[in-house]
Amino acid sequence: MEKDNKKFTPASKESGADEKFKKNRRPAKRKVCEFCEKGIAEIDYKDVQRLRRYVTEKGKIVSARTSGTCARHQRELTVAIKRARNMALLAFKAE
Ligand SMILES: [Zn+2]
Repeated sequence: MEKDNKKFTPASKESGADEKFKKNRRPAKRKVCEFCEKGIAEIDYKDVQRLRRYVTEKGKIVSARTSGTCARHQRELTVAIKRARNMALLAFKAE
């Protein structure tokens, strides 16, 4: 019997754990606030096309953490989206 099951030999757990964790982490994709990048000081609530990109298909506002929007613009964005909703430009929630 020359069964040499090397595949099933677990790598030394102690040193492997940390490295595995590092490998599985996604490389940080740098997010830049779109409004800062484009030099938009005030977000227009009538700019529905842009606002739509910051709203999920369920009608929720995408968090700054996800979209990469800076705090200042995220604040303006929420106001703009809420305004747009009231003007019936954006839906409150998915149909
Ligand atoms: Zn910004």
